Amino acid sequence: MATTEAERSYYDCTKCPAYCCSIYERVQVTKRDIQRLAKHFGVDVATAQKRFTTTWQGEQILRRKADPIFGKACKFLNPETRQCTIYHARPLVCREFPARVRCAYYDLLQFERVQQGDETVVPLVQITFRNGDE
Ligand code: SF4
Ligand code: SF4
Repeated sequence: MATTEAERSYYDCTKCPAYCCSIYERVQVTKRDIQRLAKHFGVDVATAQKRFTTTWQGEQILRRKADPIFGKACKFLNPETRQCTIYHARPLVCREFPARVRCAYYDLLQFERVQQGDETVVPLVQITFRNGDE
């Protein structure tokens, strides 16, 4: 998520408005993630948990904030640069995303930009979570 790592060849996070940090309402964090955040900010674990996370249906998730493009985004996304402000302390789920050589959001972004002949277009995307048995 919002990475600048060079080894990925089919998407370029530096040209993306960070869909992955914005449209997911839940970025789940583990105890280890919270410990990493605590260390990064030089606070104790309880403080980090309270300050940076909240709960959603029993899950511990990162807090969000207002975002100029998507309405809401991760608390740690820089709203101007669209980069992660805690890159080296980001949660595991962010490190693993998108877990494949292509990013579907980047493909969508490129497709729309080519279709509309405008390199600045940002298609708005919404995710609806559904239970597997629906
Ligand atoms: S949505 Fe894809 S291309 Fe955009 S920042 Fe996230 S991983 Fe990178
Ligand atoms: S912690 Fe960083 S990489 Fe993860 S969602 Fe937030 S801004 Fe994106």
